[in-house]
Amino acid sequence: MLYQLSYAHHGNSRIVVCPGAEEQAKQRTTDHPNPLALEIKIWHLKPAPSTPKCEKIMGTMIDLDHPEIGFAIGALKEAAQLAQQIQREMAPTALTKEDKSPVTVADFAVQALLGRSLETAFPEDTLVAEEDSATLRGTPQQGIQNQVVESVAHSVPDATLEQVYQWIDRGGKESGHRFWTLDPIDGTKGFLRGNQYVVALALVVKGEVQIGALACPNLGRGSLIIAVRGQGCWRSPLTGLERFEKLRVSACEDPAQARLLRSFEAEHTNVGQMDELMQAIGVSAQPVLMDSQAKYAVLAEGTGDLLFRLLSPTYPDYREKIWDQAAGSLVIEEAGGRITDLDGKPLDFSVGPLLTQNRGVVASNGHLHEAALKALRAH
Ligand code: AMP
Ligand code: MG
Repeated sequence: MLYQLSYAHHGNSRIVVCPGAEEQAKQRTTDHPNPLALEIKIWHLKPAPSTPKCEKIMGTMIDLDHPEIGFAIGALKEAAQLAQQIQREMAPTALTKEDKSPVTVADFAVQALLGRSLETAFPEDTLVAEEDSATLRGTPQQGIQNQVVESVAHSVPDATLEQVYQWIDRGGKESGHRFWTLDPIDGTKGFLRGNQYVVALALVVKGEVQIGALACPNLGRGSLIIAVRGQGCWRSPLTGLERFEKLRVSACEDPAQARLLRSFEAEHTNVGQMDELMQAIGVSAQPVLMDSQAKYAVLAEGTGDLLFRLLSPTYPDYREKIWDQAAGSLVIEEAGGRITDLDGKPLDFSVGPLLTQNRGVVASNGHLHEAALKALRAH
């Protein structure tokens, strides 16, 4: 059943209420220092009037009042806005990192902004993120550092270059008991081409992803996807009024009807093996090519059914990076799907920035997973 659920605002505090959760709402009101100041509205299965202050949720429940959830949503929206602004205003130039992958002003600026937001919201928490300041410090390209500072200054007007370096390096690559992991621009190649890219953020506690969030500026009119362990996977427009809809993977059980997704970049996968797998499973349509964890969002919203990250013949020992998988994996699981490595093992997020215990990824709506693993064992 779909419930109409709503939450009220007072200053910075928000309180979530929904049918069946009145008791919890009353308890929270009691806990508030000034309960009467909180305006609580409950709509029982009736549409709530849409006013700019009233945000609506269809589905059961996500606790938007939870500090970490509120942080993930707010920080990602701000980050995505910055990425879009840089894309609109700057010529798409990329530096080349040591591993030959591209990095742009947007990667550094978004990571600095997120690092700063985290420092303010959760000063104890570390950030395991893709970029580091050494690449930015060492670039011979004139003016790149200034462009990054100017970009960050859209959100933090008095930001200095030294602060930007510090925010980028916040936490280094040290993962501990509890940390956030960020890919500031996942799919940098897609960002440069004007295709799909996402800002991906996840909270990992004791090796388990608790919150996974993807800001997808080019998916539909721009979507924010947030999954919370045990609370489902939700989508809201990236801009304008927050309106959360619960996501569910597709019900497709017939391999012949399956919509397959793969990386746009052929060298991030194994195209020959992909063809063999398609034949073995009985998938008839050609795969949809898409950059970044936007693929995981597409799977979660039920417009794709199956996804492979196969090992490229050029990099057979490639191991996935935690910021490329953590947010997307929870998005898929909380939408009812399944994600494993190519051997059928769960992804292990407890071992540091690289998923050294896993090879590649297969993700699906759940129904097609066993068929995919069976085909992988044979091919
Ligand atoms: P996608 O657009 O799905 O291919 O994902 C983009 C991510 O692929 C980037 O963030 C890179 O970290 C990652 N990547 C880079 N090289 C490889 C590779 N050889 N195999 C798999 N993934 C890669
Ligand atoms: Mg990435």
